[in-house]
Amino acid sequence: MPLPQRFLDELIARTDLVALAGRYVPLKKKGGSYWGCCPFHHEKTPSFHVEQDKQFFKCFGCGEGGNAVHFMMKIENLPYIDAVHKLADMAGMEMPEDEGDEKNRVRRQRLLALNTDAARYFYDTLSGPGGAEARAYLQKRGMTPQTIVRFGLGYADQSWDGLILAMRQKGYTDQELEAVRLGGRSKRGSLYCFFRDRIMFPIIDVRGDVVAFGGRILHGDGDGRKYINSPDTPVYSKSRTLYALNLAKKTKEKKFILCEGNIDVIALHQAGFDSAVASCGTALTSEQARLLKKYTDEAVICYDADAAGQKATEKAIDILKASGLAVQVLRLPPRRDEKGKIIYNADGTPAKVDPDDFIRLSGAEAFRTLLDKPPTDGQYRMSEIRRKYGELADDAQRIAYIKEAVQYIAGISSTVEREVYAHAAAKEAGVSPDSVLTEAKRLRESRRRRQEKQLEQEALQPERLRQPQAWELHYDDPASAAMEERVVTAVLGDGALLRCAKERLSPEWFSSPFLAKIYRMALERMEAGLEPDASFCMSQLEPDELRQFTRILSSPVRERTDEALLDEYIQKIEYRYQKRTAPPDDDALLRAAVQRKKG
Ligand SMILES: [Zn+2]
Repeated sequence: MPLPQRFLDELIARTDLVALAGRYVPLKKKGGSYWGCCPFHHEKTPSFHVEQDKQFFKCFGCGEGGNAVHFMMKIENLPYIDAVHKLADMAGMEMPEDEGDEKNRVRRQRLLALNTDAARYFYDTLSGPGGAEARAYLQKRGMTPQTIVRFGLGYADQSWDGLILAMRQKGYTDQELEAVRLGGRSKRGSLYCFFRDRIMFPIIDVRGDVVAFGGRILHGDGDGRKYINSPDTPVYSKSRTLYALNLAKKTKEKKFILCEGNIDVIALHQAGFDSAVASCGTALTSEQARLLKKYTDEAVICYDADAAGQKATEKAIDILKASGLAVQVLRLPPRRDEKGKIIYNADGTPAKVDPDDFIRLSGAEAFRTLLDKPPTDGQYRMSEIRRKYGELADDAQRIAYIKEAVQYIAGISSTVEREVYAHAAAKEAGVSPDSVLTEAKRLRESRRRRQEKQLEQEALQPERLRQPQAWELHYDDPASAAMEERVVTAVLGDGALLRCAKERLSPEWFSSPFLAKIYRMALERMEAGLEPDASFCMSQLEPDELRQFTRILSSPVRERTDEALLDEYIQKIEYRYQKRTAPPDDDALLRAAVQRKKG
């Protein structure tokens, strides 16, 4: 149910993106645009800007960009239609009536009902005679019957069509089963169960609807990965959902615990830590972080202690901080044998302990103690760096340690924090705190200079063409694409130039289908009597296209395009087009001529 273009145009025109973005990030005017630290990634020097005249935003750091609707979707973590709704409310506009709306709502309700019925089916299977082994497994993991009910756990048995037959009988269509990805299509076109021989974890959103499933394999052998999750569907967006947030949102705890897996979350809830959540089958996203921020100001990361877990922890720290959450890291102590000695894996790393194991072995009280006093993210990173350098026995080790510590300290924006960690590192290595601080200061200075220089260089070379990040948008003919970019930016928002271009430049001549699409869009808008503004056109672009388009619009323009200059660009595009499409040699021309005669 696409919204009428006129309505969207008016909504974007009535919304002042500078004022809107300014509510979330402090913005400073610099030239024609407004700059601030990006709300979508963690940074210390502003690379996020909003263009007042063209009404779009762009971040050079993470690449996010778009118009007011995109901004609202990202910052408030809303689906498209809700973002439009919210902006319409703010602008005092009525949402257009649409019969498609109603149809969509009904379809959504049916898909959610299907998920709920499937969850019930899995639960019944678990409770029934076929679920004995699955029940034994859950019992072995220490899960009580109450927990199983509370989380709606179930079992998908080994049958290829059990669920499908049951759901058909309830009146659901094959298309609906496919839409929520409970059914997959075989090569021969028949529908089979997506989840088989798996412990099922329904994923329930904050509204209480079953939106998706996670499945853990029961019998380790056979096809599949240990865990699989529903992919995105019309009722589920992975990057915007947190497992168990529907329960955690009612907690009385101040801190939310972020885990890696469903089973960790369930073990924590069962032990009384009911603020535990997990991102399901993805690395933490900024949408999930902002969703969390709606319910808490403090997050404790409790990931695995292995190398992958550490990497994920560092990424999560950045993402959570960027969303304004205070972050702590809870590191579980390594596994020990009866004599209290640390157990090591074959590769020499300490054997890891899941929150699940930890609570079983050491009890909930021990976990509570760790939770109440986990190190802050700075302490965590400093101790990770310290761990790498062992005994600090010789000068070489001490110097290497200080060097790496300084790298981290120099990136901290708070002076007090820098001071604290510099003192700590100095003490460890047996050097004066001043020397560490001086090093950090020097590094900060040189980083700042490098960044300024880079920005300067970019401003000086507007013609240097950058390939789009997304492979699908790659420019096959960069010389032509450079001109196409200029034409597109010039004609959007300038009706006179667009009319000129329409007479002289065919969309066929474009080498980049993506730029041709924008040019066509502008022409179609003109024909329909709509303004061909850049921010209006953005409504119809895919995310990758949006990133590239906002990047093009943000490139510095050397001179204003007038009709003569536009003509120059067009001539070059036409020349490149003829070059690309010309027959490779005269013989080929001849052959073609002969063929035509014959035909
Ligand atoms: Zn950014």
